[in-house]
Amino acid sequence: MYDLLIRGAGLLQIDGAAASLLPGHDIAVRAGRIVAVAPAISPGLAAEVIDAAGMLAAPGLVNAHAHAAMGLFRGVAEDVPVDVWFNQRIWPMETNLTPEDIYWGTLLGIAEMIEAGVTSFADHYFAMDEVARAVDESGVRALLAWTVFSGPDEEHQLQDTLAFAAHWHGAAGGRIRTCLGPHSPYTCTPGFLSLVSSAARASGLGIHIHLSETAEQVSQSLAAHGKTPVALARDAGLFEVPALVAHAAHLTAEDIAVFADCGVAVAACPKTEMKLGVGVTPVVDLLGAGVAVGLGSDGAASNSSYDILEAARLIALLEKHSRRDAQVLPVGAALGLATAGGARCLGLGGAVGALQVGMQADIALLRLDAPHMQPAHDLPAALLYSAQPADVDTLIVAGRVLMRGRRLLTIDKGRVLREVSARAGRLTRRRAGEQVATYPEAS
Ligand SMILES: [Zn+2]
Repeated sequence: MYDLLIRGAGLLQIDGAAASLLPGHDIAVRAGRIVAVAPAISPGLAAEVIDAAGMLAAPGLVNAHAHAAMGLFRGVAEDVPVDVWFNQRIWPMETNLTPEDIYWGTLLGIAEMIEAGVTSFADHYFAMDEVARAVDESGVRALLAWTVFSGPDEEHQLQDTLAFAAHWHGAAGGRIRTCLGPHSPYTCTPGFLSLVSSAARASGLGIHIHLSETAEQVSQSLAAHGKTPVALARDAGLFEVPALVAHAAHLTAEDIAVFADCGVAVAACPKTEMKLGVGVTPVVDLLGAGVAVGLGSDGAASNSSYDILEAARLIALLEKHSRRDAQVLPVGAALGLATAGGARCLGLGGAVGALQVGMQADIALLRLDAPHMQPAHDLPAALLYSAQPADVDTLIVAGRVLMRGRRLLTIDKGRVLREVSARAGRLTRRRAGEQVATYPEAS
């Protein structure tokens, strides 16, 4: 018997840079995993059957760097430089957040991700018990890190985050995993980063950190410490555990070699990086060096959306544009960043990111009947360059259907929208001198 049978979809297959379609296949799911893929599996063997004839089945998308609750701040910091974004808008406003705000904000982000075909995300924020609760209830998969900064209470913060990580690691049937979340080298001292890396090693946890987002951050690190942020993080021991780095937009050849040597994974967030005008992750160079690369949304306060297909489209266009080369980052490679590449970033390589027997049943079913998806000469290309979140009809995580016919089955969307709306006004208040951290002034 199977728990779930998906019948008659075209299956997206990605093999390196090549993407292809396996037409008219069935996918059988048992105990959360894909256990059979074949042209015709008897529906009598399944407890639940989804007729997906005429649809495209894609591996669930992976958002490799997010702050899901920051949808609460969508649109409050447009067209400002990064120092103003942090010091005058976001970090003063984040002092208003209560744990319950973060719970509802995270559900808003998860609802948006489910509707956009995202099945897994790596989150980095505050009050992470509330984020974990939202992940548990909504049925998605996540790697969760509690953001910590240097400060008088840094050791206390670290103890709290270790308690969170221990409590939730492996929870929700294994859908939740945890790691440590030092914010960045510009908000954490080298000594604190060393403390975090020691704690990660001792606890068997990985880390998730922002590195080298702007050229200014790199030059300030060179002036203050005589090394790039990547070298500083390595010397603090952060790459001795599984490490996920967000942005890494400004890298030396040595930095890229460090990532490759240490097995560091990188989450590129092209929309945020473009909107803030800070420079974009050199994805093709990183892939060429053998580095695992995925795609992130970052928070919706900078990125405006949690649409990972959009991120894949943007990075493919950016690399082709900047290199004046239509052949770089072909369709399969770009879709691979959004699926198997992201899975590697989350430590889920080999378990998530492909529609194959033995993999977790994390699946997005997309309708193909919108004008922008027809005719179907090249469906992988249509998915990358033409598809919209609204084309996602059904979303499945670990064999459980979370959305069907675009109706969310685990989240009360009306309630989420009401809760967010009721909280939004209070969250934008700013009080002089109150902010969660300080972004270094330009030197
Ligand atoms: Zn971020």
